[in-house]
Amino acid sequence: MNDYVECPHLTTLALEVLRRERARPHVADEQNELLRRKAEAHERARLERFRTEGRTIVQIGLGEPWDFDAAADRTVEAMRAGAEVISQATFVDGWWRGRADFLLKVERATRLGSWGYEPLDAKLARAEKPPYVLQLCFYSDCVAAIQGLTPEHMHVLLGIGEQRALRYDDFGAYYRRVKAGFETAIASPSVTEPYPVEHCGLCEFRGVCGERWEAEDHLGKSRTCDATTSRSCATRACRPSLHSPSPRRVRRWSACPLTRSRRSATRRRCSFHAGPPATQTGIPSIPIRAADSSYCRGRRPATRIRPWAAHRR
Ligand code: SF4
Repeated sequence: MNDYVECPHLTTLALEVLRRERARPHVADEQNELLRRKAEAHERARLERFRTEGRTIVQIGLGEPWDFDAAADRTVEAMRAGAEVISQATFVDGWWRGRADFLLKVERATRLGSWGYEPLDAKLARAEKPPYVLQLCFYSDCVAAIQGLTPEHMHVLLGIGEQRALRYDDFGAYYRRVKAGFETAIASPSVTEPYPVEHCGLCEFRGVCGERWEAEDHLGKSRTCDATTSRSCATRACRPSLHSPSPRRVRRWSACPLTRSRRSATRRRCSFHAGPPATQTGIPSIPIRAADSSYCRGRRPATRIRPWAAHRR
């Protein structure tokens, strides 16, 4: 589901692999491997801290071969027994499966007794991200089905060592909406197009999409693609705000896609400052406001071949 949030086209390609219409690309990715190892070390360090604090810990293994149903049953047993920490808590809900890094025991009257559980995931990032929240919401729903009450909080242990609590009620509606959209995308797939998004750098299908962009001479090859920017912003716009954006973020996101299109076109017009009129270059003529004129600096071509540099400022 997190892949679907990152890029709907990724779901389309993954479905094609499942239907054997396409081979799964093999991408040897040292960076991903390094991240995976660091994430495991981060989680192990938290587990060790629980041990040194003297908490009772139940670790749920998947066995060999993996048996999710048996692991889910052991998770329920550990919750009923009142373990203080449950590591690798496993859940099965229809065709959904998930493993929470930890379930923490909290004092609260539930169907289990005078205690309940809240999920905790260890992540390497420096701040909470929507994919983490979606995972935690899934675990919270599964915990609620067992203990009869939805956990009040979900916890994320960040790579900077801070543990932050998020209220389930703040994100439940967003989670249900994304989940419903994902299930619809699986049940009745629609036609999707690859548009460059942040996740492309980590995506196993990046070679597939890259070839397509090359073959189609797609605008996505260029980092100035306004369609990409619009799409990316639209996706983020429906995400909940996890924390106040920094002033820098506000400035960068404040321009709507139309404004950015105008600025981009303005810069391109300025690239041809001494050349033919913009209409002859195929770039539509867009009135330039006084504020936009700051983009016209009459630079030499050597500086104009990197128009996206202005986007980054
Ligand atoms: S490479 Fe990018 S556009 Fe293509 S499927 Fe992956 S995330 Fe989506």
